Amino acid sequence: MATVLNIAPSENKVSSFVSRTHKMLINGKWVGAASGKTFDTYNPATGEVLSRVAEGDREDIDRAVKAARAAFEGRWSQLTPSERGRLIWKLADLLEENLEEFAELESLDNGKPLKIARVADVPLAVDLFRYMAGWATKIEGNTIPISVPYAPGAKFLAYTLREPVGVVGQIIPWNFPLLMAAWKLGPALATGNTVVLKPAEQTPLTALRLGELFQEAGFPDGVVNIVSGFGETAGAALAAHAGVDKVAFTGSTEVGKLILQAAAGNLKKVSLELGGKSPNVVFADVDLDAAIAGAASAIFFNHGQCCCAGSRLYVENKIFDKVVEGVAENAKKINVGPGQDESTDMGPLVSAEQLNRVCGYLESGFSEGAKAVAGGGRLGDKGYFVKPTVLVNTNEKMKVVQEEIFGPVVTAIPFSDPAELVTQANDSVYGLAAGIWTRDIQKAHRLASQLRAGTVWINCYNIFDAALPFGGYKQSGWGREMGHEVLEQYTEVKAVCTAL
Ligand code: ADP
Repeated sequence: MATVLNIAPSENKVSSFVSRTHKMLINGKWVGAASGKTFDTYNPATGEVLSRVAEGDREDIDRAVKAARAAFEGRWSQLTPSERGRLIWKLADLLEENLEEFAELESLDNGKPLKIARVADVPLAVDLFRYMAGWATKIEGNTIPISVPYAPGAKFLAYTLREPVGVVGQIIPWNFPLLMAAWKLGPALATGNTVVLKPAEQTPLTALRLGELFQEAGFPDGVVNIVSGFGETAGAALAAHAGVDKVAFTGSTEVGKLILQAAAGNLKKVSLELGGKSPNVVFADVDLDAAIAGAASAIFFNHGQCCCAGSRLYVENKIFDKVVEGVAENAKKINVGPGQDESTDMGPLVSAEQLNRVCGYLESGFSEGAKAVAGGGRLGDKGYFVKPTVLVNTNEKMKVVQEEIFGPVVTAIPFSDPAELVTQANDSVYGLAAGIWTRDIQKAHRLASQLRAGTVWINCYNIFDAALPFGGYKQSGWGREMGHEVLEQYTEVKAVCTAL
């Protein structure tokens, strides 16, 4: 394991940002929590305090919601779609100009390798904002020829409008803090809503820095409000607030159900992007090297802290040993260390809680008879590092096969009968994503149609694009992120009918 790097105590933009006590963005002003409270965030590579952040709660959420309402009814609604789109584009430009700073902040806060944040997290966020900026001028309704059987001979002009839902509460997780903020803010703003965003308590820094860029880009006060705080307090207050018209959540399925209950009070609209336990299927006719590398990156990318991680690896019997050996080799070669070290391929898990959770799952797997052919536990005793792990001797009943581990742990299971495979692959309460590796296009597309998942990757994995919708079947969620599909979730349809 590489040595832990300290942040240079210098004029460096990142270290000076990190060392501030952070306030929240409410109505265009940076303010402390109404309670005056703050909380610490931790560097996952060392377990030491990284930064201090205002601890927002019910009262702060209430202020932010009121600011968002005033902006929605005021300045924001007076802007033309083109002006709205240009502001979002400007924000994307600013983010791109500050790419390195955001990548460093993300790596420090979340633990992910800096080199990954540079090429994935930040550029994907920039691209998302640009894609959504383009939509601002294309939110269209239809003209609809109607027949009205009980009004013979009458003529009507009927059309639909797509209008913003209003004030949107957005609650995001810690695995891709900046990118999840972009996935949420981009479509909400493109369609003309105003937002109260609550970042995850483990990783609030890039969202707060993004708040500064919203101001620099010239967004009117109150359009984007960012309230840092904990889930059970600030998050719950946002999900329940009667002044919020819609709540959009990404996180665990367990909390997704709480969001739904909280939203019932005023029947606010709800969209949810939740957990997964995605099957990744490798057939014997495959390009072996590509499949092995693909299966490894499907689970180990972002330390397995992806809701779509390919965590259940199904391999056709004939090549099972070879694939398992290949993925295990791959796992052993991964350089695990602090994210800021350029040689690091995999950083620490985000928190002590996640470390305990993942190690708990490993112990449960071993106690039920699973065997690790790579990894199998914590790495070192400082920071939250876990060894990339490949488990065999598992079966469908085990917790490690059924439940989302959210860490670098894959269970490899052989199959021989394709019909049984479909049943096995779909045997999950989740339905977020799936992978298929084969050279046979008929087999690939037939299986793609049989899998109950919102995304199916064929001969690839973890391919994301702002234009490609992402979201879940079953308990993986409601609605879709990205693509034009997401716009429906941020708009109401108004039917207007005129007698001619
Ligand atoms: P994880 O368990 O992986 O930390 P969560 O689903 O708990 O994921 O967290 C995702 C987001 O949901 C975070 O911003 C967190 O603060 C928030 N959150 C957690 N609990 C609640 C809750 N009861 N109500 C609203 N938001 C919550």
